[in-house]
Amino acid sequence: MAEIKIEQFPCRQDNFGVLVHDAKTGVTASIDAPEEAPIVQALERMGWGLNHIFVTHHHLDHVEAIPALKERYGANVFGPASEAAKIPGIDETVSDGDHFHFGSLRVEVIETPGHTLGHVCYYMPEASVLFAADTLFALGCGRVFEGTPEQMHASLQRLAVLPDDTIVYCGHEYTAANAAFAVTVDPQNAVLERRAEEVARLRDAGMATLPTTIGVEKATNPFLRPSDQAIRTHLGMPDASDAEVFAEIRRRKDSF
Ligand code: ZN
Ligand code: FE
Repeated sequence: MAEIKIEQFPCRQDNFGVLVHDAKTGVTASIDAPEEAPIVQALERMGWGLNHIFVTHHHLDHVEAIPALKERYGANVFGPASEAAKIPGIDETVSDGDHFHFGSLRVEVIETPGHTLGHVCYYMPEASVLFAADTLFALGCGRVFEGTPEQMHASLQRLAVLPDDTIVYCGHEYTAANAAFAVTVDPQNAVLERRAEEVARLRDAGMATLPTTIGVEKATNPFLRPSDQAIRTHLGMPDASDAEVFAEIRRRKDSF
């Protein structure tokens, strides 16, 4: 059993900071680098150094603190090869299908173009953990800024085939807004209804709604459910392709 510890905390307005620590070897990684101060505070609170930063994509709210964290800790920065020019301080480039070792754990790189063209997710199979950043959110998905809806749909489907018990950390706390939208496209989903109630309770208590799991998202997240008959009927798209239904759900969310 992997001895992994994960610390999640808020950064910026609605980003998450996430630290991963391998207790066996004592190494620590930060998933992205949204903001220096909360990351430093979390490292000090946990008594951890910072060995690596695993960058998912080039957006400022994921890379801004890289130079400061490198300077302070000498952390080694991994990031997507195709976005390397936009990621300050990048040391090692990764591409789809690559794997590398973090302490005693294997990390697999899954390219998920859509939100940005080079966005990668980091998957640790022995720990059953996925760091999905701005590709998959609880009850939602990232906006399709650089890719096409077809690409984003294919990227999400690659994540959906991971085991149901995979724990998913995401880049942002958007779940309450995502829930409000999700029930408008999947109004008869009782599992979604219960999840939306749980999300409201957690937010009222000032608590994070993340992490989630692949199984929960497959049952509740409309962006992973374009093949669902009830959603298709509700959207009046019984014969469309899954990618077309996904694109329609994304289009509706963009103007929700
Ligand atoms: Zn982003
Ligand atoms: Fe972001």
